[in-house]
Amino acid sequence: MTVSAVSLAAADLAALARAAEETFPDEACAILEGTVTGTVVQVERVHLAPNVAADRRLAFEVDPRVLLRLHRELRGTPRDIVGVWHSHPDGNATPSATDFARTYDPSLAWIITGVTGAGATASRAFRVDSVAFAEVALTERRS
Ligand SMILES: [Zn+2]
Repeated sequence: MTVSAVSLAAADLAALARAAEETFPDEACAILEGTVTGTVVQVERVHLAPNVAADRRLAFEVDPRVLLRLHRELRGTPRDIVGVWHSHPDGNATPSATDFARTYDPSLAWIITGVTGAGATASRAFRVDSVAFAEVALTERRS
């Protein structure tokens, strides 16, 4: 499955931007729960998770307990883990080499929010191609 677009509620996007600001200068992270219709990822819930990376200013690693709990919760439901979100405290919402090295599931959508001491800068969505990230449309829903 190739992701062409990622859709999430404006309130969820705002919550992610807030988490990025509150966690600055560390990277914040979250798991995205939702559904996939065709090639469009619909995010229905965001689950902020502790960043358990050794150096949280330069990387993120979602607490595996959050992942495990979610996998259990969503088993047998129409929803699934559809993506991952994290912040970049250098203000740049572009995947880093570290991010690419850590991709493990090409079906997951990635959203990155840039943040500086002055606040969140931008949020962008990506899919993982075999050799790189490719930007896809990020749209805000009203609900
Ligand atoms: Zn990153």
